[in-house]
Amino acid sequence: VSSETTRTRVLAAGRRLTPQRDLISEVLEADPRPRSAQELWTEVRARAPGIGRATVFRALDALVDAGAARRLALPNRRSGYVGCSALHHHHFVCQDCGIVIELPEPEVSPLLRHLERARGFQVNHARLDFYGTCPDCLPRSRAAPRSSPASKTVRDPDYLG
Ligand SMILES: [Zn+2]
Ligand SMILES: [Zn+2]
Ligand SMILES: [Zn+2]
Repeated sequence: VSSETTRTRVLAAGRRLTPQRDLISEVLEADPRPRSAQELWTEVRARAPGIGRATVFRALDALVDAGAARRLALPNRRSGYVGCSALHHHHFVCQDCGIVIELPEPEVSPLLRHLERARGFQVNHARLDFYGTCPDCLPRSRAAPRSSPASKTVRDPDYLG
């Protein structure tokens, strides 16, 4: 099977799923926090009762392949999907409120240029997302660091490797 054939088939599958993709895009855009495929299926069903789990999961994959959504790694080995704009970007994920903020390439590229100079690499591609506390949550987490025993601001060693 040539890659061209595979690509054509993937594109055809994506086109067949266009109404479902549009619906899922709307659901993703309605909330900037990452949600699991299962959670998204529940939300999509509220708008389109009867839509199948496999259909939603396939349409979600097609959105990711098209660059219109990303599956982000989350603490505790979970993952969640977010809607993405067309321009290449990276993400900041707030571990307190869950909001995802897109970081345009110019904010990230100085780090890549630094690596190239310091290490002698040529970096062609980076999948780089940042995890922490957003400006809205930071005053709260500083004011009451002990109020919540399960404070999510605790640094997760899995994600600071
Ligand atoms: Zn994105
Ligand atoms: Zn936040
Ligand atoms: Zn980049």
